[in-house]
Amino acid sequence: MTDTIYDAIIIGGSYAGLSAALQLGRARRQVLIIDEGLRRNRFAAHSHGFLTQDGVDPAAIAANARAQVMTYPTVRWLSGRAETAQPLPADTRTKAWFKVTVADTLYLSKTLILAVGLRDILPAIDGLAERWGKSVFHCPYCHGYELNQGRIGVIAGSELSMHHALMLPDWGPTTLLINDAFEPTKDQLASLAARGVTVERSPVQAVTGHADVQLADGRTLSVSGLFALAPFEVASAIPHQLGLDLDQGPLGAVIKTDPMKETSLPGVFACGDAARAMASVALAVGDGNLAGTSAHRFLLSEAISHG
Ligand code: FAD
Ligand code: MG
Repeated sequence: MTDTIYDAIIIGGSYAGLSAALQLGRARRQVLIIDEGLRRNRFAAHSHGFLTQDGVDPAAIAANARAQVMTYPTVRWLSGRAETAQPLPADTRTKAWFKVTVADTLYLSKTLILAVGLRDILPAIDGLAERWGKSVFHCPYCHGYELNQGRIGVIAGSELSMHHALMLPDWGPTTLLINDAFEPTKDQLASLAARGVTVERSPVQAVTGHADVQLADGRTLSVSGLFALAPFEVASAIPHQLGLDLDQGPLGAVIKTDPMKETSLPGVFACGDAARAMASVALAVGDGNLAGTSAHRFLLSEAISHG
């Protein structure tokens, strides 16, 4: 066990976690950031849509953020995976409320901020995973513009892919690859036709080359980029260990929070992709800012009530 009792332990040191740390570091609070370095966007070479950083390497944005945050002397960084996080029994809560383990070391803290992100569960199509973030994407706003109005393929995962198929014509002529995932209704076919979307029924066998879709009937559909909706899961078991309430959405569950990013367990905050239905670097940074100030507010109120 380490001697320090942190004001906040932040699990996940990417955009959301670092943004929370910045607020707390600026309040001169003792902060430990634990991060294992598996950002969700690590597969992409360029990040788009975040003001002042448009087109920048997402690793460079994270490194710059980390460098700025680590100039605050009360903020510490620990590379590694937080394995467990638990509340301490109520009668021992004199100074610390939570314990977190990394390898065999125990860390104590008054608050926890979960900024653990999400893990995408990619469709099991040959060649797709290698192209994730390079020529296969899920977010049109992030990567659509760079396709330069070339042809786009949407690989359906379920009826939810209608949403992708109807959006993407704003970025380029679009083909919806049904891939046996659902059968569009008459109305859906009419909406697709109205947006000029081509419907392809031959199942997808593999993706090769840049984005060459190999169809079961032997044809190849070569496109500038592919979009696929991937289900996701919170990238850590810690929310489950803590028994936090979740918000179930069509593609997966995220941690439920109030508007100030406090979870169902007092003193535990969550921010970024792990705690919101809509995901982006900008939203993760905004969320982290809220979670950091919210944790600080909690510390102030606890100091008043516990002395
Ligand atoms: P993440 O960046 O995913 O970071 C979570 C961190 O927590 C990771 O470092 C992880 O290792 C760590 N962690 C998790 N569990 C533990 C644990 N138990 N112990 C220690 N550390 C832990 N968004 C945009 O705005 N623009 C884009 O162009 C864009 N492109 C994308 C491209 C791809 C291919 C993908 C998949 C996503 C893209 N996104 C983009 C979305 C963007 O990646 C996320 O919105 C953003 O990364 C969320 O930040 P975060 O801090 O919440 O989580
Ligand atoms: Mg983070």
